[in-house]
Amino acid sequence: MNQKSATPKDAAAVILLNDAGDEVLWARRNPRLAFLGGYHAFPGGKLEASDALVRVENCANAELEKFIACAVRETFEEVGVLLVRGGEKLTRGQRASLHDDLISGRMTFAEILAHWNLRINAADFFYTGFWTTPQFSPVRFKTRFFLTVCPPKQTPYAAISELENVEFIKPNDALEKWKKSEVLISPPVLLTLQTLSTADSDKIIHIKNDSKSKDQHPKIVAENLLKNSQAADGQIRYIELNPRVICFPLKTETLPPATHTNCFIVGRKRFVVIDAASHEKSEQAVLHRIIDSFVEQGFVCQAIFVTHPHRDHTGGETVLQTHLFEKFDLRIPIAAHKSTAESLRGKVEFQKFIKDGEAFDLQDENAADFKLQTLHTPGHARGLLVFYDEEFGFLLSGDSVVGSGSVVIAPPEGNMQDYFASLERMKNLPNLRFLCGSHGAAVFDAKGKIESYIAHRLKREKQILEAWENGAKTSREIVERVYTDVSPALYELAEKSVEAHLGKLEQEGRISHEQPRILTKDY
Ligand SMILES: [Zn+2]
Repeated sequence: MNQKSATPKDAAAVILLNDAGDEVLWARRNPRLAFLGGYHAFPGGKLEASDALVRVENCANAELEKFIACAVRETFEEVGVLLVRGGEKLTRGQRASLHDDLISGRMTFAEILAHWNLRINAADFFYTGFWTTPQFSPVRFKTRFFLTVCPPKQTPYAAISELENVEFIKPNDALEKWKKSEVLISPPVLLTLQTLSTADSDKIIHIKNDSKSKDQHPKIVAENLLKNSQAADGQIRYIELNPRVICFPLKTETLPPATHTNCFIVGRKRFVVIDAASHEKSEQAVLHRIIDSFVEQGFVCQAIFVTHPHRDHTGGETVLQTHLFEKFDLRIPIAAHKSTAESLRGKVEFQKFIKDGEAFDLQDENAADFKLQTLHTPGHARGLLVFYDEEFGFLLSGDSVVGSGSVVIAPPEGNMQDYFASLERMKNLPNLRFLCGSHGAAVFDAKGKIESYIAHRLKREKQILEAWENGAKTSREIVERVYTDVSPALYELAEKSVEAHLGKLEQEGRISHEQPRILTKDY
C-alpha cells in the first residue's frame, strides 16, 4: 500500500528584521491548526491567483514577482505590517481599516495598493531561497523566503487568529528557547535563526544610523541563507526536533495516508537509533551517511532499537548493524522488548531485550548527559516501546500516537484494553510537553493530542456497544452501522478495530461472548 507523497503547493514567507536589524519577527501558530499547529514560524502563506495581478516594481526576476506580492500580502494579513513604499503617509487606523477591507474581501490587495498609491519595490526584498515541506507531511508547501526590514513606525501584531505571541526576538534568544525544548521550530526557521545568529553583530547593530551598512547587512545574510537553500536544493532530509533528537523520515510501505516512518537518532556524543525502518537501499544509504558522520566524529552508537515488529518499523536494523561492523568494526546490539523479538524470530536477531522503565544514559553535542526512559506501552502491538526525555518533556510515541494518520488496534497483536491503559500512562507523564510519533510531524500539545485519542476511542466504543445491544453481532455488521464515515475499502481494518473494542468490552464484563468472531489477518 505504498502511496505517493502530496504535491507541494507554492507559498511565500518573510524573514522580517526590526528596523535596528538585530531582531527577527516570529510568532506561534495557533495550536489548533492542522499544519504545524503550535510551531513558531515566520509570517507567510499559500500563493493565491490574485498575487500575480499585483504590480512589483524593479523586479529583475519575473519568476519571483508573484511570490514577493504573496509575501507582502501575507505579512499584511497576518501581522498588519505593510511592506510597501508610500505607506508612511498612512496612520495606524487607516492601516487597520485597509486590513479589514482585505480580510473581508471588500477589496483585493491589488486594488488597495493602487487606490492608495502604495508600491511594492523588489529592491526592498532579498530572496533567500526556497524550502519544501518533507514528504512525510500530508500537506506540503514549497515556500520562497524573502528577507526584509520592517518599515519605521509599524508594529507587528497578531492580526488574525492563526497566530499568537507575535514578537521580534534576537536570533540567539530564539535559539536558546529551542535548545531548552521550550518551542517547536520547523527546519527552515531553525536554519534561518542559526544563520542570523552567526551574522556579524556590528553590522546588525549599526544599520539604523549608517545607510551604507543598511544595504549591506541584509544582503550578506540573505546570500548566506540562499547558499544553504541551494546547497540542499530546498529539500529537508531530516528534522532536528531539539538538540538531542533528530527525526529522519524514511520511505516505507506503511498504511495511507502515511508514506514514511520516522527513524529517530537520540543523543549525539552518545546516541541510539530507533526504527531504522526502511527496506529501500537508497533510504538506508542516506541514514547510514548521517550515522557514519557521527561515528567519524567519535560519537558512540549504543544500540539500534526496534519499537515493535510491524513491517514498516523493521527491515533496516540488521543492514545498519552489518554496515557499522563492516565499515568501523563496531558491534552494535539490536534491542527490543522481548515479545517483539519473539514476533520477529527468524527475521531479526536481537542481542538485547529492553524492559519497561529502563533508562539509557545518552549525551548531547556538548557531552552533557541526559536520560532516555523506556515505557512499555502495549495496545497497538504487544511489545511496543516508546521513549521519553523527561527533562525536555519530549515523548517519542512510536505507533501509539502519531502526527498524521490513525493508529490501528488489530488483535491478536493489538489489544484495546492495553491501549487505553497505555494512553492514560503517556498522558500522565510528568513534564509532558511535545510528542513525535512514528508517522507525521511533531505535535505541540502532547497531552491534548493523547486526550483527543482517548475521547475518540471512547466515542467509538459507545457506538459499538450500542450497535451490539441493537443486534449487530458480527464485526462486519457493526462496521457497517458505526463506521459510516469510512470508505468500504477500509472495512477490513475497521473490523479489526471493532474486534479490539469488543475484546475490551468482554474483558470488562460489559458484553458476553456469544459466538466466535472471525479474525482477519494481522496488521
Ligand atoms: Zn505499527
